[in-house]
Amino acid sequence: MGILAGRRALIIGVASDRSIAWGIAQAFHAAGAELAFTYANDRLKERVEPMAESVGSRIVLPLDVTVDEQIDEVFAQLKERWGGLDILVHAVAFAPREAIAGSFTANTTREAFRIAHDVSSYSLTALARAAAPLMAGRAGAVVTLSYLGAVRSIPSYNVMGLAKASLEANVRFLAADLGPQNIRVNAISAGPIKTLSAAGVGGFRKMLARVAQVAPLRRNVTTEDVGKAATFLCSDLASGVTGEILYVDNGFSHVGMSFPEDGAEE
Ligand code: NAD
Repeated sequence: MGILAGRRALIIGVASDRSIAWGIAQAFHAAGAELAFTYANDRLKERVEPMAESVGSRIVLPLDVTVDEQIDEVFAQLKERWGGLDILVHAVAFAPREAIAGSFTANTTREAFRIAHDVSSYSLTALARAAAPLMAGRAGAVVTLSYLGAVRSIPSYNVMGLAKASLEANVRFLAADLGPQNIRVNAISAGPIKTLSAAGVGGFRKMLARVAQVAPLRRNVTTEDVGKAATFLCSDLASGVTGEILYVDNGFSHVGMSFPEDGAEE
């Protein structure tokens, strides 16, 4: 029996087999969870449906997180098909491409700021509000995905860093608000992983190279690494953990200074 046996999880954010949400879905499936998926648009529907089927899921629903009616419909469907929900995975972010390259000051327009915060942070509040009634009487768990740009400046990450800072505050406020209903809310701050969204961040390949050079474990994280941590956070093994930002970054965020491996010290 896996540690998520008998748990029902909604996975939001699968766009390809490289998606962090897919790594989480596979880990949840291996841990015995039953899964439902959403897709953001018709183009992704054809991709997500066979992936969902491969992990035994028959619930695959449309969801653009900026549309309240679609959020309501997803949870109405889950109520009808499952009756309740144990786990919500929020692995969604977006900012206009021109805002996540080059100068932060020059490229952060009011509209880019609004879109980034709406899709990447507010959506967690809206989804948690809709999920909470279905988690009543259960040990509910919500997990979202953040990045180091929430707490440090990172080249090109720009307005997305501000949205992630908002998302991390969102986790703390939701944890405080939903804790009395026995719903835990946590985030994983993942190291960079080559996904469709990540490819939109200017200079992303340089980030991967730097992490492999500097992180204590001398490699980049994988979606499997993140999937395992999400399984822990959403299981009873983390029954006392809420409001937490768990870094799954091979230790990169803890390094204050490093020197090249070739021993170039004076
Ligand atoms: P991805 O492109 O595979 O997933 C992003 C998902 O967001 C896609 O499924 C996309 O359809 C969805 N999305 C965007 N706008 C949406 C909307 N309006 N409604 C519904 N869905 C929408 O990329 P990923 O890297 O797996 O991203 C997942 C999460 O992980 C994001 O929050 C991202 O910021 C975070 N993250 C990624 C990295 C990384 O380096 N890849 C690192 C840390 C955190």
